[in-house]
This record gives sequence, C-alpha cells and structure tokens, in this order.
Amino acid sequence: MANPSHPIIVRTVEELRAHSRQWRHAGQTIGLVPTMGALHHGHISLAEIAKAKADKLIVSIFVNPKQFSPNEDFDHYPRDEDADLAKLAAVKADLVFLPTAEEMYGDGFATTIHLDDLTQDLCGATRPHFFDGVTTIVTKLLLQANPHMAVFGEKDYQQLLVIRRLVRDLDIPVTILSGPTIREPDGLAISSRNQYLTAEQRIVAGQLNQILRKMADEIAIGSDITLQVAVAKSKLTDIGFDRIDYLEVRDADTLKPIDHLERPARILGAVWLGTTRLIDNREILPSDSEEILWFEDSR
Ligand code: AMP
Repeated sequence: MANPSHPIIVRTVEELRAHSRQWRHAGQTIGLVPTMGALHHGHISLAEIAKAKADKLIVSIFVNPKQFSPNEDFDHYPRDEDADLAKLAAVKADLVFLPTAEEMYGDGFATTIHLDDLTQDLCGATRPHFFDGVTTIVTKLLLQANPHMAVFGEKDYQQLLVIRRLVRDLDIPVTILSGPTIREPDGLAISSRNQYLTAEQRIVAGQLNQILRKMADEIAIGSDITLQVAVAKSKLTDIGFDRIDYLEVRDADTLKPIDHLERPARILGAVWLGTTRLIDNREILPSDSEEILWFEDSR
C-alpha cells in the first residue's frame, strides 16, 4: 500500500480533474497553492493555510514560461523536484500537479487572459509580459483543479490584487486567501531567487525590508510620503543596491498613487543587486485602523 503521507503525483490535466471531481463528489473541499517550485518556508506556509482550511490540499509546481521574457532567468530558474516532493510530503499535501509546458500550452495555444487595471505599472512597467503570463496560468490552474479556495502570498502583493480582480471579473467560483510574507531573521523576504545572491549581496539584501519598515513607521506617524520615498531611495543606493526599479506608496486596495495617508496603504519596492531583482512590500495603516495580518475575500 502506498505510504499515505506521500502525495499523489499527477502530470496531466485529465488526472488532476479526475481527483478533483472525485473529492468534490465525496463532499470534500479542495485548497490549491500554485507555485513555481524550489519550495521554501514561504510556499509551505501557504500550503499550511490551505491544509488548515480545506479537506484536500493540491500544490501545483510549474515554472511558467509565459511569465518570463526572453532576457529573464527561465532557463536558470531553480528546479528541484525531489526536494519539493519531500517538503510536500512533510506538509501532508494530498496531490502535487507537475505538468509539462506541452501539457499546459499545447499545439496552437493562442489565448491570453489580460487585466487592464492594476497591471500597467510597478512590476508591470518593467516586466510587461509578466501579469499576462500570471493571469493566464492562474486561470488555467483554477479551471483545471477546480478548488474551493486558492492561497497566494502577500510577498507578491500586486499579483495578489491582480488575482483577486481576475477571479471577481471572470466570476470564477473560488475563494482567494492570502498568507503573510515569511522572512529570514534579518527581514529579507524568502524567495527562490535569493539563492542567486553572493554572500556580500545577501548582507545588503537584508537591509531592504529594514528600510521599508522604517519608512512605514515614519509615514504612519505623519511624515511626508514624498520625503520618505526620497530618503529611502538614497539609503538603498548608499547601502549598495545597484538599481531601484521602483519604490512607491500606493493605496492598499487600488494601487493608485497617494500623497497622504487616509486609508491603508502599501509601500511596494523592486530593487536590483547585480543580476538579481528583489521585491518586497510593507503595509502602512493610518493610526486609527486595526492591523490586518491576513485576510480573505469570499464570494
Ligand atoms: P512562486 O513560486 O515564486 O511563484 O510563488 C508561489 C506563491 O508563493 C505565490 O503566491 C507567492 O506570493 C508565494 N510566496 C513566495 N515567497 C513567499 C514568502 N516569502 N512568504 C509567503 N509567500 C510567498
């Protein structure tokens, strides 16, 4: 008999659908966690959220070629199927979906899901292909796995809002849950791409979140947003970040620029260390609102 703690591994949409259908018929709820593999504590924390809320946990691992441009790191993106499967066995995932690119984008694949709002700037400005790749693959995964809920990280905050909007606009019957950003002890958001950093760059990288935190604290107590953005940018450059892609304070729901704090806001930043791009974000709450660590959006 198969070891019950080992997840079922499926590589085709047909097999995935068969399991999902069977679980639904048995009255069980399904949680999906989409990932690109090279799993770390951040991914596992989302799997734990889904595991706690749903009867069955599906984790997908697919390095999605459509969200990389030709000059990005698709070929070198870390892949380690055996280590990923061991971590998913430990968290008692029920099923791991490991499709090939051919399975996901067969001959003649010609459809793109595109959101007009939320995707045009921040990460969308320098990575114009990125959100179309994300929305297309997430739509496919939701249709294929047919989960009751799917969990995404606040680490990719713009992406999280894009996915919530996608699900709302297309009336996809799924609840989107989010999990907080899991960090290294010095505050660096854990990311599969952190392994690209040299030891020296890794020390600099840890300062990103500390600078965002200080900036959030200052703005929360009434300091001028434009001033704080300028101060933080010059600190980032002085500390050794090679380039700032963006550093912005935006409305936490609409991502529209703001110049003073009336509602929950979010600092969003993307910076380069050598050839590695790091992103991070930080909540800023006006002093009269309550802190929300993670939230859900049910339909
Ligand atoms: P990825 O494999 O990078 O596509 O990420 C898959 C999911 O994990 C996304 O929903 C990410 O937002 C989430 N994620 C990545 N890093 C972290 C982290 N450090 N903490 C929490 N969630 C994360």
